[in-house]
Amino acid sequence: MTDNLSQSVQYLKSVGPKRAESFKKIGIINLRDLLFYFPSRYLDRSTILNVVKTNQLIINGYEGEVTIIGKVEDTELIRRRKQIFKVTFKDSSGYFDCVWFHGIKYFQNRFQIGEYFAISSKPVLTRYGHVQFVHPDFDKIDSKESEDFLHTGKIIPFYPLPKELKQTNIGDLSLRRIIRSAAEEYADELKETLPAYLIENHKLINISEAVKEIHIPSSQSNLVEAKNRFKFEELFYLECMVALRKYKIKSNINGVPFIVHPEPIKKFLDSLPFELTESQLSVLSEIRKDMESRQPMNRLLQGDVGSGKTIVALIACLIAVSNGYQASIMAPTEILANQHFLNIKKLLSDTDLKIELVLGGQKKSKKDSALENIKNSEADIVIGTHALFEGMVEFKKLGLVIIDEQHRFGVAQRARLIEKGFRPDVLVMTATPIPRTLSMTVYGDLDISTIDKMPLNRKVIKTHITSDRNLPDVYNFVIDKSKEGYQSYIVFPLVEESEKLELKAAEDYYSKLKDTYFKDLHVGLLHGRMKWQEKEETMLQFAEKKFDVLISTTVIEVGIDVPAANIIVINDAFRFGLSQLHQLRGRVGRSDKQAYCILITKNEFIGKAKTFDFNFEYMSRAEIERNKSKIRLNAMVKYPSGFDLSEIDLKLRGPGDIFGTKQSGLPDLKFADIVEDSSILLEAKNAAFEIVEDDPRFDKEENRIIKNKLLEDYSDNLKYSTIG
Ligand code: ADP
Ligand code: MG
Repeated sequence: MTDNLSQSVQYLKSVGPKRAESFKKIGIINLRDLLFYFPSRYLDRSTILNVVKTNQLIINGYEGEVTIIGKVEDTELIRRRKQIFKVTFKDSSGYFDCVWFHGIKYFQNRFQIGEYFAISSKPVLTRYGHVQFVHPDFDKIDSKESEDFLHTGKIIPFYPLPKELKQTNIGDLSLRRIIRSAAEEYADELKETLPAYLIENHKLINISEAVKEIHIPSSQSNLVEAKNRFKFEELFYLECMVALRKYKIKSNINGVPFIVHPEPIKKFLDSLPFELTESQLSVLSEIRKDMESRQPMNRLLQGDVGSGKTIVALIACLIAVSNGYQASIMAPTEILANQHFLNIKKLLSDTDLKIELVLGGQKKSKKDSALENIKNSEADIVIGTHALFEGMVEFKKLGLVIIDEQHRFGVAQRARLIEKGFRPDVLVMTATPIPRTLSMTVYGDLDISTIDKMPLNRKVIKTHITSDRNLPDVYNFVIDKSKEGYQSYIVFPLVEESEKLELKAAEDYYSKLKDTYFKDLHVGLLHGRMKWQEKEETMLQFAEKKFDVLISTTVIEVGIDVPAANIIVINDAFRFGLSQLHQLRGRVGRSDKQAYCILITKNEFIGKAKTFDFNFEYMSRAEIERNKSKIRLNAMVKYPSGFDLSEIDLKLRGPGDIFGTKQSGLPDLKFADIVEDSSILLEAKNAAFEIVEDDPRFDKEENRIIKNKLLEDYSDNLKYSTIG
């Protein structure tokens, strides 16, 4: 059965076999494909300025981009020391020009007198007060489009024009005409891809109308509706997959129904020098319910750095162990695994539980005995890195897996672990809070518990930005504070490409400081090239206050807990990402003393930055891009909480690879941006979850459409689900 839409684009007017071939190269084979080749931008009268207004804006200090439509009046090749190609344009209010310094031959061929163009770029004023664009973006439009545009306000779509199309002389204008006529003629034949009741309940435009509107917009607001329909559809199917994954996990009843024995837990709590916070208690009751259930736990525990997740994890371990099962804790680095090991051993020293450590770089004899103990069930709690789950370790009776600092592990890795044959309860812990939008998507199959309050004794860390010129003052501050018993981390950023050079740079920095500013202090060095035993030794010495100052690369980033360290100095802070900075800052402020985080950066990153408002809704993507470092550093000063920072981080990262989609197994998004479209996301999520709850196999007549679409377009992404 072939419908019209499955026909080759070849038969469209002004396409033909040659051009069809070049369309094919970019994945457009039939008419349906072509109808779903959407514009990347639109030109709309409200976004257009004229020359006079542009002039005013520049004078008033505007630094953004503008778009002006103009007709080519003159072109000129100016020969000075270097050649300049200049095109003079005219619009209804006056003249402006565009200049090019490179690729002149190419541009000379693009502009003919009398043609119309939309010019977009950041304008400047010449010495004579002329509006000028240097190497601007430009789109050719025809005179009719220009007329319609200016008089009736028609919106003009612009399509991406890859080189494959250019090769067969398809230009902006011809592509627009081809798609326009295809939309006029064939869009009505598109079959609906959403159930009728969803279209009605969510007041969506139907597929044919929406496709027409996308290509031939009738008004700005209708265009927005059309875009929203595709965003909703895309997010709805994404959420169906998330809901299916969750459903699959929930419908599994082969987990261990643990019985909670109160005695060992009570004994453990009594041994702690503090009471659990209310937040800790409430997440514990959620974890407890999961563990008691036959369904395997699949829970994410999020809590800011220092909020006390380790204790919570340990109590979960105690539940598993007191039922005769093994528990394992997986940490992202060897140094952190080792720290957990030492820490937990100490915390459980009153019990007769056996705790084992498994690391890649461990002594063979030690490792062999650990592996043996795990296999024959001598070991109750097993701590290690991902090496734990890479084949060599055999558990006798694994009942609980705790994954610390989730952001270092992929979702797929998590799935692999579960697929190892066990149906253990899984608790994933993260100090990088998951923004709401991600908790609905990539993490949507997890239940989420949040420790939202810090232990009471904590003071907000004082965070400062300062120029590298003030380093001497910073060092003196470190020296002064050491007299009060403060210990400090000084983070040394790795700037070199090569490991050898890195190491040398770290060592140079270390010996320089040791011999000058810190000659009266005890200084240690920690870097990634050290063996884990050496790292362990150094960390231990630092914890025992053998050093006042620890100079370190970012190996200290994750999870390290030395409560007496209360100053962290981060060199070249502008190089770091926001969550990394927050993680680093989280190394201090782990006691009741006032802690300090000092961000060192080049002068240029300080300047005006202080005046930033973090509502960057009004900043263009390009502006955000240019100011990322400043925004990050200032956000660190302004926000102590990782939750706020993670939302900002998500915005800064933009719509790119927010998902780490490859690992998540979820499809890439073409239309929607989960940050900007978060309200549509929420709507789509609720709809999808409701449907999956009610009809998980989409067997109902009205849901067939969903099943077909999922099987047809998303079969690759359905690995973790069962339908059909
Ligand atoms: P994170 O959530 O970053 O993993 P940790 O579990 O390492 O935090 O806890 C940070 C510090 O806070 C540890 O020294 C821990 O002993 C301490 N701590 C945990 N819970 C409490 C509490 N309820 N009151 C006081 N201190 C606590
Ligand atoms: Mg931790």
